[in-house]
Amino acid sequence: MEHYDVVILGSGLGGLIAANILSKNNYSVCVVEKNEQFGGALQIYKRDNVMLDTGVHYIGGLGKGENLYQFFKYLGLIDKLTLKQLDKDGFDRISFSENEEIYPWANGYENFEKTLTNIFPKEKTGIQAYVKMVKETCESLELYNLKTPDAPSFQAAYYSLNTYDFLKSIITDEKLIAVLLGNNLLYYADKDKTPFYVHALIVNSYILSAWRCIDGGQQIASILVRSIRGNGGKVLRLQEVVKIETENGLATTVQLKSGKQIFGKNFISNINPSLTLDLLDEKVLRSAYKKRIKSIENAMSAFTMHIILKENTFPYFNYNRYHFTTNNLWCNSRYEVENWPENLMIFTPAFGEHDTYAKSISIMCSMSFDEVKEWETSHSTVPEKNIRDENYLVWKAAKEQKVLDIVYTLYPSLKGNISAVHSASPLTYRDYLNTKEGSTYGSIKNCQHPLESYLSPRTKIANLYLTGQDINLHGILGVTISAFLTCASFVDMDQLMKEVREA
Ligand SMILES: Cc1cc2nc3c(=O)[nH]c(=O)nc-3n(C[C@H](O)[C@H](O)[C@H](O)COP(=O)(O)OP(=O)(O)OC[C@H]3O[C@@H](n4cnc5c(N)ncnc54)[C@H](O)[C@@H]3O)c2cc1C
Repeated sequence: MEHYDVVILGSGLGGLIAANILSKNNYSVCVVEKNEQFGGALQIYKRDNVMLDTGVHYIGGLGKGENLYQFFKYLGLIDKLTLKQLDKDGFDRISFSENEEIYPWANGYENFEKTLTNIFPKEKTGIQAYVKMVKETCESLELYNLKTPDAPSFQAAYYSLNTYDFLKSIITDEKLIAVLLGNNLLYYADKDKTPFYVHALIVNSYILSAWRCIDGGQQIASILVRSIRGNGGKVLRLQEVVKIETENGLATTVQLKSGKQIFGKNFISNINPSLTLDLLDEKVLRSAYKKRIKSIENAMSAFTMHIILKENTFPYFNYNRYHFTTNNLWCNSRYEVENWPENLMIFTPAFGEHDTYAKSISIMCSMSFDEVKEWETSHSTVPEKNIRDENYLVWKAAKEQKVLDIVYTLYPSLKGNISAVHSASPLTYRDYLNTKEGSTYGSIKNCQHPLESYLSPRTKIANLYLTGQDINLHGILGVTISAFLTCASFVDMDQLMKEVREA
């Protein structure tokens, strides 16, 4: 009979970091993952001999002494990762179909402010007010600043400030507002709902510094798995959790699809909270709690496309291009299908420190699950076995062509230099990550109902906890912080944060 101090359901970044912290602190841990590959959205795959990332395109805050750098140093990641810093004078570049101008986001607040003020001189005061507010917002969150969190750790006013309302209150030029929202595929901004703090925490980390993982993000998962095993922990693949058993109101066991059972004193679920509740017996939790968790809205899904290039034909570019095809800036499901895609993130993955030519181009566009609803009963995580029907392949090819038509207008030299195209739809994300309707970023935060969209790592079952992107914030930095937040129930946080600061 296998028995652990902590059983962790899912090996996404949140699960792996929690396992790492706890195994370092002498807890016996076991991580159970349903997929063949560990890492959730950190997974990679190979096509035509080229490595393709599924979920992590670039990471902020990894400059020496910055917040994620320090967390990753504590986790033993920073010296082992192979990274490439994006262009400091334009790590993100925003463009709109209506004109040919390209608007850069520069690293370092001084550089950021100067670059935008040169383009929008009349908005100098607005840009200064924006920077001040981003910094102030970020400074108010303890864990984000490597300090032990007090409860509640955030001033309530920040939760209810709407991003668009705030930008409109300090800036009159709509184009500048569009530029400041230009990389919102990072957090899927909704005009009515996105709180300014979500925008601020994310853009701040990239303004500090922006990095690509050379050869993909899977290296983060591999290093973490090795380190958990080095600490005596277990990390098991191809073990889907189908049930969480309880006794007298406490979780006792996870039941795996293979029939095996794993016993634990505590359980941390890295699975979407609503789907975690589905693993419990109907009557274990009160319906009001279940209703609240189930009513939290999830971010939309994505259509991602990888273009494999003929050798030495297309230059590597050391930045991300965000392009809008209409004047709709928002990544929510209220789009017209005939206008899709309205937003594209385009970049060339890094394969070495000094790439001259790109091996592939990756493109991400937000997409609603409604577009693939017709095939929702088909589930697949085995690419060789195509179990979806011919119509799906036709639909996918048509979407790929729509994206290609736009990309050709931006990069005409691409014509004739493509050797293959591969794509992933909301169904792919649903099946590989087990997120609701293939949601890329999990629960959305809503400034209109801030408390309803806030989720604590604690559940109504005293020894069942949550971690991952639905707690705190999505993204590599957000999920890292969420794992530390979850571990606050197990370790002395003052000591842990001291170790992070001094790592
Ligand atoms: C397309 C895309 C692009 C992104 N780009 C970026 C980016 O550029 N920068 C950035 O910082 N962030 C990016 N993100 C976000 C970031 O990758 C995620 O927020 C983060 O990796 C999520 O980690 P997580 O721990 O919450 O869980 P996930 O990665 O969702 O992992 C959950 C794990 O649980 C497993 N699981 C689920 N159900 C079960 C079960 N029943 N039994 C066992 N295991 C189970 C899943 O297989 C998975 O491995 C992107 C995400 C996506 C999808």
